[in-house]
Amino acid sequence: MREESAKTTELSRKIREFKEKRKAVILAHFYQRPEVQDVADFVGDSLQLAQQAAGTDARVIVFCGVCFMAECAKILSPDKIVVLPEEEAGCPLANMATAAAVRAKKEEVPDCLVVTYVNSSAAVKAESDICCTSSNALKVISSLPKEKPVLFVPDRNLGHYLSRQTGRGLILWDGYCHVHDRLTAGEIEKARAAHPEAAVMVHPECRPEVIDLADHVASTGGMLKYAGSAPFSAFIIGTEQGMLYPLQKAYPDKTFYPAASHMVCPNMKLTTLEKVKQALEDLEPRIEVAPEIRDRARRALTRMLELS
Ligand code: SF4
Repeated sequence: MREESAKTTELSRKIREFKEKRKAVILAHFYQRPEVQDVADFVGDSLQLAQQAAGTDARVIVFCGVCFMAECAKILSPDKIVVLPEEEAGCPLANMATAAAVRAKKEEVPDCLVVTYVNSSAAVKAESDICCTSSNALKVISSLPKEKPVLFVPDRNLGHYLSRQTGRGLILWDGYCHVHDRLTAGEIEKARAAHPEAAVMVHPECRPEVIDLADHVASTGGMLKYAGSAPFSAFIIGTEQGMLYPLQKAYPDKTFYPAASHMVCPNMKLTTLEKVKQALEDLEPRIEVAPEIRDRARRALTRMLELS
């Protein structure tokens, strides 16, 4: 145990040293391993990370997250070197939509507007009118002209939630995040029975019947805010378990329970301190986005950022 923490301290020291040398900034998502979050310059949700990527004056962005996030950073900061420490860190949800399939759907509904969740590839973003994250999706949907049909890609649960919240019929893509979609209403009931004093917070990527049982529905950034202002001292958290670390760190006097022990995204856990150090040393693996895709995807992302 002591050996492990000495190793972590040494790796963190080397990472800070390389970071200076490379003029790099380290961005990490809330679902990353605790020690990776601790070494980052900024930890946040997809929207906050996109804003950081667009605004940084660092020469190199080391993105501790999954591939679509690093792609977003490259799209928003094309002149910077963007490094994803673990090349294999993909997102199964993002893989559920392809640009060709979105184009085919647009032909079926020719005058539709395409709203694409950031959990998607650059090529799919390039086919879209505007992007959204779970923290600004309601605002994005509400900003669209009422008479136009809207295709929402790729998360059907988030789309369903938005449709109910805004009262607007959306054409839903049949994609889902396996981490959130697996959470069942029975598991929420079980967690509530075990911790009757706790409020239930769930992510809008969860199924409708799970959302119906929650006291609060929020993005990861929204959960962090709500936990601070809500009059509860305990919470059951219905999102990827990495989120428990920043919540507990921000509110040490409050208690956070996972809604279910299986809510772990293996891709988000692929990034380790060792890989972050190596990525800073080699400036590899780099993320590149072809200019013709990048420019169209940037339009959809910039529209979203202007609204946020
Ligand atoms: S938690 Fe879900 S949406 Fe996020 S990276 Fe993992 S699979 Fe993708």
